[in-house]
Amino acid sequence: MALVSVRKTETYGASALRSAVDAHFEALGIAGDMHPGLKVLIKPNLLAAHKPERGATTHPSVVAAIVDWLRDHGVTNITIADSPGGIYKAGNLKAVYDSCGYAPLGDRVTLNLDTGYKTVSCPEDFKNGSFNIINPILEADYIINVAKLKTHGLATVSAGVKNLFGAIPGLQKPEQHLKHPGISDFSRMLVELALTVKPRLTVIDAVETMEGNGPLNGRLRHMGLTLASKDVFMLDYHATALMGIDPMSTPILAEAAKRGLIVPEELELAGDPAEPANPPYLLPESIPKRGHSFLLRAVGAVARRVYVAVPRVDTAKCVGCGKCAESCPMKIIEVKNKKAGMSTKHCISCFCCQEMCPVDAVMIRHVIRLPKI
Ligand code: SF4
Ligand code: SF4
Repeated sequence: MALVSVRKTETYGASALRSAVDAHFEALGIAGDMHPGLKVLIKPNLLAAHKPERGATTHPSVVAAIVDWLRDHGVTNITIADSPGGIYKAGNLKAVYDSCGYAPLGDRVTLNLDTGYKTVSCPEDFKNGSFNIINPILEADYIINVAKLKTHGLATVSAGVKNLFGAIPGLQKPEQHLKHPGISDFSRMLVELALTVKPRLTVIDAVETMEGNGPLNGRLRHMGLTLASKDVFMLDYHATALMGIDPMSTPILAEAAKRGLIVPEELELAGDPAEPANPPYLLPESIPKRGHSFLLRAVGAVARRVYVAVPRVDTAKCVGCGKCAESCPMKIIEVKNKKAGMSTKHCISCFCCQEMCPVDAVMIRHVIRLPKI
C-alpha cells in the first residue's frame, strides 16, 4: 500500500504548520528514519525570485516547520537547495532566497550556494542514459522534496515529480526540453529523473495553490491542505485528484502509471478527509479544454499534434527583461527596443517563456500547424 497523509492546514501560521508536520511525520513513521549524523537535503520549489504571496514557490513557513521538526529530532545537518529557472550562479541563488523568504532560515540551515553538478548514470532500462544533477542533492543522505501544488502550462499540474526538475542545473533545463520536445517524452524523462533522485519523503504545500496559467502567472486558490508521502507518484496522483483533475489526463502521471508506479487500489489515506475541488481547478490556456474542439475529441491524438498551443507576447505588458529569451530552448525569442517577440514556426510549445515571464506578458493562442509531408 502507498500511504498518503492529508492534513487540513488553513494558514501558513507557525503553529498550524507544526501541527500538520507532526501529524504527517507521525503517520509516515519519519522519526524512525532519523539519526543525529544524517545529512538532510530539503528541495523546495524555488522557481524564481518571487515573494511567497505570489503562490509560485513553496512557502518558507512550510520548510521552516520541517526544519524545526528535524532539529527537534536531533538532525542538524540540513541544507536547502534548488536550481531555479535562469542562470545557476550564487548571486542569483541569494536573490531567490531573499525574495522567496528563505533568508531568515540561514541561521538554522545551510542555504546552498554551490553551483556544481555531477553526471549520474541511469539504470540500463531507462531511456535516459544519464542526468546532470546539482551537488547538494547528490551529497545528501535523505532528500525531502517540498513541492508547491499548481497548474502548469506544459505538464497540466506541477507537484512532487515536476518539482524534481530543479535537480537539473540552471539553463540545462531548457536543454532537456530541446532533447525531449514532445510532452510524452518529456514526462518520461521527468519520471526517470524522479526515480534517479529518489526523494525519501515528499511534502506538498497546498495551503494556497494556483489554477489557470500556472506555474507563475495563474490565479491563487485556497485549498487549505498539506499532503505528505514516501511515494511521490501516489502523492501526486491524490493531490491532482483533489484539484478535481483526472490524474490520468496529466502526462507525468499517465507515464508513471504505464510503468506501474501508480496503482490506485493501493492508495491508503491517513489524516483529514478532503473532497476533490468543486468546481475543478481551471486548466492553463495551453491545455485544450474539454469540449473546446469537436475535432480534438473526434480524432484525438492526431488533432492534438495539428492543433497546437503557441505563445505570443503582449507588448503592452512586456518590460523587456529578457528572461523568456534566456530560457527558450529553441532560441527563437528576441528582445528589441525592450519588447520580446518570437517566430513560432520552430516553437516546441514548452512554455518556458511563459513560466519565466515575471509580468504575465506571455499569452497563449492555438494554431493549426500541418505536419511536414
Ligand atoms: S517560444 Fe516559448 S514555448 Fe516556444 S520554444 Fe521558446 S520558450 Fe518554448
Ligand atoms: S515577455 Fe516577459 S520575460 Fe519576455 S522580455 Fe517581456 S517581460 Fe521579460
